[in-house]
Amino acid sequence: MLPNLEPLSPQQCMQAALQEAQAAATAGEVPVGAVVLRHGQIIATGRNAPIGAHDPTAHAEIVALRAAAQALGNYRLDDCELYVTLEPCAMCAGAMLHARLARVVFAAADPKTGAAGSVTNLFAQAQLNHHTQVQGGLLAEASAQLLGQFFQTRRQQKMVQRMQTHSLRDDALRTPDARFAQLPGYPWAARYVSDLPALAGLRMHYLDEGPPSAATTWLCLHGNPAWSYLYRKMIPVFLQAGGRVLAPDMPGFGKSDKPKKDSAHSFGWHRQVLLEFVERMDLKNVVLVVQDWGGILGLTLPMAAAQRYKGLLVMNTTLATGDAPLSPGFLAWREMCAKNPEFDLARLLARGNPQMQAEECAAYMAPFPDAGHRAATRAFPPMVPALEAADGAGISRQALQFWQHEWTGQSLMAVGMQDPVLGLPVMRALQKNIRNCPEPMLIEQAGHFVQEHGEPIAQAAVRYFKL
Ligand SMILES: [Zn+2]
Repeated sequence: MLPNLEPLSPQQCMQAALQEAQAAATAGEVPVGAVVLRHGQIIATGRNAPIGAHDPTAHAEIVALRAAAQALGNYRLDDCELYVTLEPCAMCAGAMLHARLARVVFAAADPKTGAAGSVTNLFAQAQLNHHTQVQGGLLAEASAQLLGQFFQTRRQQKMVQRMQTHSLRDDALRTPDARFAQLPGYPWAARYVSDLPALAGLRMHYLDEGPPSAATTWLCLHGNPAWSYLYRKMIPVFLQAGGRVLAPDMPGFGKSDKPKKDSAHSFGWHRQVLLEFVERMDLKNVVLVVQDWGGILGLTLPMAAAQRYKGLLVMNTTLATGDAPLSPGFLAWREMCAKNPEFDLARLLARGNPQMQAEECAAYMAPFPDAGHRAATRAFPPMVPALEAADGAGISRQALQFWQHEWTGQSLMAVGMQDPVLGLPVMRALQKNIRNCPEPMLIEQAGHFVQEHGEPIAQAAVRYFKL
């Protein structure tokens, strides 16, 4: 150091420490910087580096003290001052006392580990300290801002990383991919979203096939206990006609994450997830394709964004408004589910669909390796709004008004005639409630899972909704 230099001002010293802090941030370390002065000139600098140095003691102050002692060839720094951007911790305060620094100046206080007044004050211990003065608050705002920005950026990076990797929530299960390997007739790429607000990090699976600019987007919603596999016979027809197909698996079903608790499922929550999904994908020129719960929930969606929808293809479903009794067939189904909550889905499908191969029936069991994964199939039957005050009943009554009076799109109805739960009587009632809904297609051999006979329905729909 040249002896004739002007002594640096306290602001200049702290600015130099802030530059060290900035450099620490750039290196991915918590931004803290320090400088050591002697006779008004900087003789050493230090920046926080515990991560990069693999050294828990590599705080800015320790690094600067070591460099100063090396520069002076003396472990005592009697005539020296230290400027640091954050209140020293107990370790660094101890080191400063050992070094017999004349004075310590810090910028921001540290309410978590500060040992110069915030948590404790080692400098005020008369038995420990005979040499070192301490002063806080110089350029505190600038230092606090640097730290705040650093932690905010780090939180955002962690969030982005979490969303990119779709890490699994503690209260949810994820069906192993191997369960879905080589399912017959289901070649499409898995896509996932987990950052819809209502998902709160749950990973939801969906199919998105065909050109984004297609004139028609077919939004295919499955019910309980199915998943997007249900639409595998209709999707190719829609794609062949140049359309785009979106087919999500509701949380708890298919390839989507499955909350462990039955009580995680509610009408309102699932509706919200679907509303947010439609907004996120920014779907336009939508033909809504629904069956079972795909309709119980899905028929309440268009009134929230009517401009997005141009058509409705509706199969065995209902609007559960809570002010009319549920069908005897549905009550029997609900009772069966309650008595036998782990019923075999493959057998259920096989019973009504002799045309299906055993592997196709088994694909409906793929999402559910054990009872722990089946919260949704247990929760959904009792969730159908049966009373006027039930969750979803009010919104379903609003939807009924919408379909009766406000719906301006085209509608097409197809009915699986062998369905004891949501068959022709239920669908006739629904047809009357959908404005300009023509006579339904009656699919004699189809049961509840109408889509298993979906190819001719999809072909009819492609012709019908052609613009
Ligand atoms: Zn420290």
